[in-house]
Amino acid sequence: MKHLETPENHANEDLLVRRIKNGTVIDHIKCGEALNVVKILGITGSTTEALSIATNVISGQMGKKDIVKLSNRELSKEEVNRIALISPNATINIIRNFKVYQKKGVEIPTLIEGSVRCPNPGCISNTNEPITSKFVVLPNGLRCFYCDSMITKDLTSHII
Ligand code: ZN
Repeated sequence: MKHLETPENHANEDLLVRRIKNGTVIDHIKCGEALNVVKILGITGSTTEALSIATNVISGQMGKKDIVKLSNRELSKEEVNRIALISPNATINIIRNFKVYQKKGVEIPTLIEGSVRCPNPGCISNTNEPITSKFVVLPNGLRCFYCDSMITKDLTSHII
């Protein structure tokens, strides 16, 4: 038997994306990366936003995908772009009063501040100094602004 995209699938997908009143829906996240997306955004569970995560959602274009919904918070461009490091095909829907107010893709940022820890234990950003980590985004990885240490693989294990 042939598996076809059914209209119900689309209806469910619509519901998943739209059902919050105000906030942000991050859609088309690479399967299995939803929790890393939440981490890189600095959402820890102690914040006041209501968060819901859907994993392995059937998607026509991608096979399967993850979705993160964040109520009562609209992500800034800087925050949105961090997601590109993990899931460059993610799309961001800003929801106001149950409607998609704005839809945007993510762009690889040139600089990322906070969220990622420098792998060099002696780096000034890892001391008690009030210095936020800062990385320059290069084609082959992230370079620490302070000590030039590189993160070239497994970025998600360096997310704070
Ligand atoms: Zn460093």
